[in-house]
Amino acid sequence: MTHGHCHPHIVSAIQDQASKLNQVIFAGYTHEPAEELAAQLLQLTPASLEYVFFSDSGSTSVEVALKMALGYWNNIGKRRTRIVVMQHSYHGDTVGAMSVGARGPFNAAYEALLFDVTPIPLSAIGREQETLDALYSVCEEQIPPVLIVERQILGAGGMLMYPAWVLREMKRICQEWDVLFIADEVMTGRGRTGTLFACEQTDVTPDIACYSKGLTGGSLPLAVTLCRADIFEAHYSTDRNLTFYHSSAYTANPLACPAAKANLDLWQNSEAGTRVSALASMQERAIDPFIADPRFANVRRTGTITALDLKTSDPGYLASIGPKLQAFFKHRNLLLPPLGNTST
Ligand SMILES: *Cc1c(COP(=O)(O)O)cnc(C)c1O
Repeated sequence: MTHGHCHPHIVSAIQDQASKLNQVIFAGYTHEPAEELAAQLLQLTPASLEYVFFSDSGSTSVEVALKMALGYWNNIGKRRTRIVVMQHSYHGDTVGAMSVGARGPFNAAYEALLFDVTPIPLSAIGREQETLDALYSVCEEQIPPVLIVERQILGAGGMLMYPAWVLREMKRICQEWDVLFIADEVMTGRGRTGTLFACEQTDVTPDIACYSKGLTGGSLPLAVTLCRADIFEAHYSTDRNLTFYHSSAYTANPLACPAAKANLDLWQNSEAGTRVSALASMQERAIDPFIADPRFANVRRTGTITALDLKTSDPGYLASIGPKLQAFFKHRNLLLPPLGNTST
């Protein structure tokens, strides 16, 4: 909700479109709102990302990214299978997205559905080299098709932050071994790291990128997966065996696309950037007392995301402190998502 609930510019973009065309299948057809949004997104994101695939949630954008990566290797005749992921990551709640995310009480019952991946550890500050060494030895052993990462911040896994140079080095190793690099920016897009896209924070360009939360300013569900031209071209053929087979009825919904465009307009033309910086510096001042307080640990901040660990006696995802905190804050008009304890 970057611009607040029901921002008039976004509301009127949806209203205008609602009387023109509200839905049409996007497979084999196109429409202006989607074309315009795609052009605007490509202008704002790194130049090497040249194509946009529309879907309707963060989880789906990740499924699409994984399928693009495996499809690419399959279609160019170098079949590779086992995906590399970062420990503690979260990529969504559909089966593929759960498979590349952390395992825990929240997906234990569906284990039979999940496929095997190779996790690399997310090491503590000062021991980052372990993450990079692990990635390197995975590549040495058997070259994987793709590495999927949450950029700079692992969100649902506990707002775990890692430095930009680690991201840069992971990308360099992937490049060295010709491994595709997916940046899941579903959570970090739209100003959360201080800039519109997290990729503006570092010069690391992914081969495939996922965006969703906040894409329409919180008004309608929409997601995009952006990719390099050669990944698109590997699927673009008169041989229909090579087609990228992913479709859902509401892909690039004509009402959601103008909402996203209006949101991007606001980002480009309003004080959104200034407000994000003001919020970030307000948070920076507010965290001081927590740093000195022994009841808390790991006080950290990136952009407008501030996190701290409350020390508890019963650790683990289902620790009893979670529901208590939720009730406490609810009485004070602060909504907490019903997640578990994520301290590691
Ligand atoms: C929330 C989230 C998703 C899933 O998005 P949904 O729209 O809830 O399906 C995927 N990746 C990351 C990093 C997320 O934070």
